[in-house]
Amino acid sequence: MSTQPTTAPLTPRSASRCAPVLPEAYAYLVREPELTAAWQEEVLIRQAEARKVQLLLDYRERRAAEQQPKHTFSREAVVRAVHREAALMLGVTEHQVRRILTTAETAQKWLPGVWEAYQAGRVDLARVEKVADGAGDLIETNTGKPEVQRELTGALDGKFAQAVVGENPNTLARMVRDTVAELDTAGHQRRYDRAKTKRYVSFIHHDDGMSTLKALLPSVVLGPLEQQLHTTAATAPRKAKNTEGEVQEATYYNRMADTLAAWLTAGVQTCNAESGNGGPRSETKLRAPARAGTGINITIPLATLTGACDAPVVSTDGRFILPAEEARHIANNPEAGNTYYLTGTKTTPEGKQKPVRIVKLGAANPLTGTVPAASSTGADPTDQADNSTAQGVTTELVNQLISNPNLLEAESSAWFVTGNLRTAVLLRDGVCQVHGCTEPGFRSDIDHKTPHKTGGATSAENTQVLCHIHHELKSHQLLPELGAGTDPREQASPEPGPAARERANPAQRTPDPPSDWTRRDTPHEWATGGAA
Ligand SMILES: [Zn+2]
Repeated sequence: MSTQPTTAPLTPRSASRCAPVLPEAYAYLVREPELTAAWQEEVLIRQAEARKVQLLLDYRERRAAEQQPKHTFSREAVVRAVHREAALMLGVTEHQVRRILTTAETAQKWLPGVWEAYQAGRVDLARVEKVADGAGDLIETNTGKPEVQRELTGALDGKFAQAVVGENPNTLARMVRDTVAELDTAGHQRRYDRAKTKRYVSFIHHDDGMSTLKALLPSVVLGPLEQQLHTTAATAPRKAKNTEGEVQEATYYNRMADTLAAWLTAGVQTCNAESGNGGPRSETKLRAPARAGTGINITIPLATLTGACDAPVVSTDGRFILPAEEARHIANNPEAGNTYYLTGTKTTPEGKQKPVRIVKLGAANPLTGTVPAASSTGADPTDQADNSTAQGVTTELVNQLISNPNLLEAESSAWFVTGNLRTAVLLRDGVCQVHGCTEPGFRSDIDHKTPHKTGGATSAENTQVLCHIHHELKSHQLLPELGAGTDPREQASPEPGPAARERANPAQRTPDPPSDWTRRDTPHEWATGGAA
């Protein structure tokens, strides 16, 4: 696709030369006149915004040159004054001006390909901001090494100058996150270590008798708890007696909150009992026990697992990413109660790794007895002995992968997808399979591609993870990439997820949690499907 030179004035006519990038199954949308006209207006808005941002940068540059500040602090004062003036003129906050100009400055200097796509109107500022945030991380953790900064941001720009145009924002954010961690594993580890030192808890008390609890904790701690809360809320009764004995209805999020409160209270009682401040320990049982089998699922590349490399590890459902050292620690922790699976993948034409073979190994760590302790916690890849050990481990694990039954070949005559087959489908898909959707598998349904009632098999090949919103769209034949037909009331399992349970009452699945806690991926966004 041709692009506008960055210095040429962009005219409205250029919009017509900027075609939308659509998933193949949705290419027909360019024939919808209202949508095509709306896209052209969108391009014009982006181009006008790019010109506005450039004018603000020019103004800041001119003011700084005129004032000729001699010291860093006086330059910062000029910059602050300029941001204030721009905010007054445009009727926005100073924070918004600073955010926009920081993004623009980073993109202009370090991401020329992405910046050019923005100026041409092919991509919006929100997507530019996601890539610029990633570049900012690479720049910050390599301070004082301009060549490294240039090389890493160049690689980021090279990857995203084109990809940024077609990717859904949620997917793009994860791609940037993963690419930044892969490009600079040491920097990722440093950011991870530093972030852990910022953990905190705070309480906000409101006037109506309620309080808000906020906590910043490691993803490896909160990820499993999140999953357990959802699972418990999905299976807990909707109606329960309160302390006065009255029957009250609790929404899905009410039940999550009640479960968390029960966990916290029980935890406090346990602490008190252990320190001699409370009653006997026998009374300190959890009132809302977590369902066994939920936890953290991470898929670790073999080379990372053996310590041959330090590539970061993404959770199977893509929610979070861990440095190699942390992932190896989890995998090799005998106290963690891990269940081990081996996955064999095939590279798709799009360059993605698709699991084609999943075998269950059970509780025994497959590395036990095959890797010396030093190798499992990080090894020098140049060391010949370690290399031959890694080769031996690979051979051993491949043997286990081949000799055990492939869960993806399991079939059942039942309608519901349960047990090992369900686990395998969740491990294979990770998230809802609709383009751009990032809803995790544990909150989704498992759909029969060809409906069970019309003879579709309950097999890995004929099933896929779909979030409840996209499952419903498919049942109405409104998802062209997934074809037509489904069992309309089909549920994920005999223990249906929140989607299936509360499908009858849409008001109940309106996300209640406040959505302003996190900068990226708020609960609201993903709770509603996070789709394009
Ligand atoms: Zn979905």
